Amino acid sequence: MKTGLTTDISFAGEAEVAQAARMLGSGGLVAFPTETVYGLGADATNADAIARLYQAKGRPVFNPLISHVADLAAAESIGRFDARARSLAGAFWPGPLTLVLPRTENCAVAALATAGLDTIAIRMPSHPVARAILTRFDKPVVAPSANISGHVSPTTAAHVQSDLEGRIDMIIDGGAVDVGIESTIVGCFEEPILLRPGGLPREAIERVLGRALAQPQADAESDGARPLAPGMLASHYAPRTRVRLEAADIARGEALLAFGQPFRGAEQAMAIMNLSERGDLNEAAANLFGYLRALDARMAKTIAVMPIPNHGLGEAINDRLRRAAVGRSDRE
Ligand code: AMP
Ligand code: MG
Repeated sequence: MKTGLTTDISFAGEAEVAQAARMLGSGGLVAFPTETVYGLGADATNADAIARLYQAKGRPVFNPLISHVADLAAAESIGRFDARARSLAGAFWPGPLTLVLPRTENCAVAALATAGLDTIAIRMPSHPVARAILTRFDKPVVAPSANISGHVSPTTAAHVQSDLEGRIDMIIDGGAVDVGIESTIVGCFEEPILLRPGGLPREAIERVLGRALAQPQADAESDGARPLAPGMLASHYAPRTRVRLEAADIARGEALLAFGQPFRGAEQAMAIMNLSERGDLNEAAANLFGYLRALDARMAKTIAVMPIPNHGLGEAINDRLRRAAVGRSDRE
């Protein structure tokens, strides 16, 4: 972990990309934009760097990390692809889809990154800055969201700075992210399974697979003891302020996170932010974490959240909102 008090923020240019790759190579921690959220990158083959990453995030060590790669050849050197995994990679990479596969025998990724599992989570991001860094570094990079564990994920460089200033080596600023919600995670097991809803809608994946995705057991994700998709703890993505879901009215002192046309009386709220006035789920996903942070700063009694339809990116938005609504006391 960096010992100084400041972390450099640089706009993403060629020199910064080269510097980022050098820092990764010497075990440093570099935050950079991906199309989903800002990631905190470390060399996936360097256990010391990964240990420092866990420490900087305050992340429970049993959470395995996603290895990010620049191309399919790099992915195939760390994960064993079957026909189904190949068709998903072909359809959606680069993009907001993570595949969980068996590790290859000579997989160079440190066991600490996969929490000792014999499977590995792999993604090929599409953001040009992420791609430039991965291509330049030419090794897999773990890059969990660049925030303190349990906080709301960062969608701008400023969010990263407010959580991790002085704890990491470098922040590359590539502007606001595009998707705004983490990747969808699919387990390519005998039965393909939706381990985490995310930035790629379930429907699109099921269309390519020609079948429905299975759902993890509810208890597998609730207590964090032996989760199937470890890290999917019940309380995550949580603001300090209490969150109330399915709001159809507003009480005194509450802030409102709206979606679509606000209900009558909504203007009584002490603050209102609308995820998407026109009811667009993609726009809502892109705004979600930033608006949660902004409303959290208003010190409202509660953040009331209007209902969000559960199709398309709505499934991931509702998943994150449910986690945000779980109380602070049992946070990871
Ligand atoms: P993130 O927090 O976006 O970096 O995503 C990491 C998440 O990926 C973890 O918390 C797990 O839910 C999931 N994951 C990573 N590796 C595996 C794996 N081998 N098996 C199942 N889930 C995994
Ligand atoms: Mg995260």
